[in-house]
Amino acid sequence: MAGVKSDIEIARAAQKKPIGEIGAKLGIPLDALAPYGHDKAKIGADFIASLSDRKDGKLILVTAINPTPAGEGKTTTTVGLGDGLNRIGKQAVICVREPSLGPCFGVKGGAAGGGYAQVVPMEDINLHFTGDFHAITSAHNLLSAMIDNHIYWGNALDIDTRRISWRRVMDMNDRALRQMVASLGGVSNGFPRESGFDITVASEVMAILCLAQDLADLERRLGDIVIGYRFDRSPVFARDLKADRAMAVLLKDAMQPNLVQTLENNPALVHGGPFANIAHGCNSVIATKAALKLGDYVVTEAGFGADLGAEKFFDIKCRKAGLKPDAAVIVATIRALKMNGGVKKEDLSTENVEALSRGCSNLGRHIANVRKFGVPVVVAINHFTSDTAAEVAAIEDYVARHGAEAIVCRHWAEGSAGIADLAYKVVELAEGGQANFQPLYPDNLPLMEKIETVASKIYHAGEITADKTVRDQLKAWEEQGYGHLPVCIAKTQYSFSTDPNLRGAPEGHVVHVREVRLSAGAGFVVCITGEIMTMPGLPRAPSAERIFLNEAGYIEGLF
Ligand code: ADP
Ligand code: MG
Repeated sequence: MAGVKSDIEIARAAQKKPIGEIGAKLGIPLDALAPYGHDKAKIGADFIASLSDRKDGKLILVTAINPTPAGEGKTTTTVGLGDGLNRIGKQAVICVREPSLGPCFGVKGGAAGGGYAQVVPMEDINLHFTGDFHAITSAHNLLSAMIDNHIYWGNALDIDTRRISWRRVMDMNDRALRQMVASLGGVSNGFPRESGFDITVASEVMAILCLAQDLADLERRLGDIVIGYRFDRSPVFARDLKADRAMAVLLKDAMQPNLVQTLENNPALVHGGPFANIAHGCNSVIATKAALKLGDYVVTEAGFGADLGAEKFFDIKCRKAGLKPDAAVIVATIRALKMNGGVKKEDLSTENVEALSRGCSNLGRHIANVRKFGVPVVVAINHFTSDTAAEVAAIEDYVARHGAEAIVCRHWAEGSAGIADLAYKVVELAEGGQANFQPLYPDNLPLMEKIETVASKIYHAGEITADKTVRDQLKAWEEQGYGHLPVCIAKTQYSFSTDPNLRGAPEGHVVHVREVRLSAGAGFVVCITGEIMTMPGLPRAPSAERIFLNEAGYIEGLF
């Protein structure tokens, strides 16, 4: 569109302040910041530890309806709301995830917000940033190398090489590495065995880094990783291989939150980025907790739609870290709701109140679900230029009939000026004292019943099925002392059901648990429904083909 600037053009024109000034806004002394260049810094561990006696600010979750290819804008709205709260006089800190290189060079593009609601430096955040993903990749692969080395030197632990679940990782979409045979090439290269690569964001080390409270907790959790099983079926821990302490050394700096700024020079912590399917999909606990000590308001994002993202934010992150959210914002777009109402992607720019009203069932279900956790809700309509007045009125009316308020937000086009109404509403909800957060199920419920609770209460499934091997495995983990863990359900993000094409608010469908995996270090049991890709592939024409350095040396094609 002529006249509309791309995300990277807007980001490049930002009037950034030196990172020390951004830290000073939050009262962070210069010597507590480890700068990475002029506009990024890590916040020191000692300074974070010194904040423990302070009162916590209010915690606001930004979540969404089920995603569609039409785009919802959760990160954009998280950043916009942070700027909006600062605009109305609150000291707000934004907490979002670090993007992965895989999607950036694949289909999705970057993840630093969009339009006039972005965190900067956009190029750095989307590319190598402060090296956290490199550190996580290295720590993960150190353990992989130590496993094969242990077997090479005689396998004193009696590891059954057919039952090693710990694979290797790298931060790239590369389907060629999904399944492979390792240690080929003769006696000096070890004992051949099947293995493969996952993308770094799917590493349990990523989930651990994001759930650990501090470095000591990080090291303990790394030791708790189960890498596989012995011939007698007993678990082998990373601690048994003496890998945990060296892994923690590699992660020492990666564990510290990264401070950057928005286009409006407000503070943002961009730290950690676990998958939202086989992991919990939220930024790090250490960043969120530090932000709560530093600001009056913390605005944070959970991945995918609220059925996956918010549920895991509440049942895994908040439960484990003792966080109590004060309000939730559900982001919806008129385009995505029309898609939920059956409109094709090509026709989304044409007014269609009837399809919109049908698609609103998806939004209504998410509103009711989030309330089940005792968290008050407001709906943010992330405004697109194609939205019409009649469509806006229809969604406002629908949400009002469901006992909430929908507020049109124009932060993408206007920055904080376009989202002040939502900011005032969030303050009203958070300060109204209505929140009474509780997780969906208690710790002591059997694992299978935890899965059934999420599937019936959140997905509205009619039946939950699982093979005997899955049920036996869950029982075995309960006997080994893992029964108190929360479940992390891996399901398609596109539907409440396990069928990505079933939009709206399906009822009574069957959820089949195909496989379960133990993430003992992270502290959850992964339950896989359907096909879940832990190493994505690139599309026929990946974004990488359009990313280049221009004559002035600037990056083009990132979005
Ligand atoms: P999510 O976090 O839900 O995946 P993002 O916030 O990253 O979504 O937004 C995805 C893309 O959509 C970004 O490129 C962003 O610039 C674009 N986008 C977001 N909101 C709008 C809007 N209101 N109008 C046009 N484009 C938008
Ligand atoms: Mg996002």
